[in-house]
Amino acid sequence: MNYFLTDEQQMIKELAAKIADEKIAPVALQYDEDGTFPREIVKVLADSDMCGVYIDEKYGGFGGGVFEMALVVEELSRACGGISLAFAGTGLGCFPIILFGSDAQKERFLPPIASGEKLAAFGLTEANAGSDAAGIETTARKDGDGYILNGTKQWITNGGEADVYTVVACTDRSRGARGFSAFIVEKGAAGFGFGKKENKMGIRASCTRELVFDDCRVPAENLLGREGMGFIVAMKTLDRTRPGVAAQALGIAQGALDEALKYSRERVQFGSAISSYQAVQHMLADMAIQIEAARCFIYQTCRFIDSGAKDFSKESAMCKVFASDAAMKATVDAVQIMGGYGYMKEYPVEKRMRDAKITQIYEGTNQIQRNVIALELIKGLSKK
Ligand SMILES: Cc1cc2nc3c(=O)[nH]c(=O)nc-3n(C[C@H](O)[C@H](O)[C@H](O)COP(=O)(O)OP(=O)(O)OC[C@H]3O[C@@H](n4cnc5c(N)ncnc54)[C@H](O)[C@@H]3O)c2cc1C
Repeated sequence: MNYFLTDEQQMIKELAAKIADEKIAPVALQYDEDGTFPREIVKVLADSDMCGVYIDEKYGGFGGGVFEMALVVEELSRACGGISLAFAGTGLGCFPIILFGSDAQKERFLPPIASGEKLAAFGLTEANAGSDAAGIETTARKDGDGYILNGTKQWITNGGEADVYTVVACTDRSRGARGFSAFIVEKGAAGFGFGKKENKMGIRASCTRELVFDDCRVPAENLLGREGMGFIVAMKTLDRTRPGVAAQALGIAQGALDEALKYSRERVQFGSAISSYQAVQHMLADMAIQIEAARCFIYQTCRFIDSGAKDFSKESAMCKVFASDAAMKATVDAVQIMGGYGYMKEYPVEKRMRDAKITQIYEGTNQIQRNVIALELIKGLSKK
């Protein structure tokens, strides 16, 4: 399929693919086994000018958007869905600044992220507030020329590894979600610490930790937008980054298809390669159909978002659900095609099956995305 990428987009995709094949694929299983954070790969991405593909040129980036970010995530995830998250999680932490940061905040925080010197993270989820993000309990109390943060954010991607954190806290409990505000908190701030590294089923090279705020002082100039805008900051950010989760799922699924296809041509049973059996062929065909459909959907959604569209919550949710469900099915089928070998850790498909699962859960579970889509459909109908 020709997706009519611009020369720059083609170049970005090819460079990300080269890094995935040459630098990530050889180490992916080891990083997964050890749960090592991929600092060396971040350095490779930085040296290749990949870290700022979605950041404005004014702040040292390449000047692309959500599409360029998705192209990189897709290619890196083809080799490892966990390692790619150091990059994608930084995008998630960065978009609140891109969308709502003042010039001064952008000038201060974006250039070191664009150069790859610093990583970012996004803190919304808490122990009692997952799908129901409006239930967060972390507080930010105004104190002189700053705010005092107290509370704990749970399961934060790049937690402890990132230098810049965009965090949502409650500044006025009486106003519900309208009383939330978003802040930039820097690693090293007094009263800001981290919980233990979580031991996860998949994406094990990604680091997931609690963010702990214990009377953490944040200067007023680190408030993003205005007080009371925190929930909007979070929702608008996630609308833009969900296609990135979809791209992660797409890359994982493509990697699983590539492995299963190769194996099916090599494995001989009953005197023939298993690729000659129709039951196997149909699984391969279904994987390819779902993957290509996901790619079309993601690329078009990204282009729609980058065109300056105002409202794309539904499309963003749809492509995340479609791609993540496709990736889950494709990775389970890849294991099936490889039989007992697919179940063994030496082969990289059981890892892909574990990695795919998270894409149905984070940045809003697929049940919540279906709620969003259904509400938009019903709202649209009542307007007619
Ligand atoms: C590895 C990992 C990394 C993460 N990274 C980040 C991060 O960087 N930043 C961040 O802020 N968060 C992060 N999260 C949190 C993630 O976004 C949440 O886990 C997710 O939103 C779901 O919340 P929950 O786990 O509390 O599930 P719950 O909200 O408790 O949901 C449990 C189940 O109930 C279902 N459910 C809940 N409410 C409804 C409803 N109204 N209708 C239908 N079904 C419903 C859900 O779909 C799910 O199946 C991460 C999580 C993980 C596991």
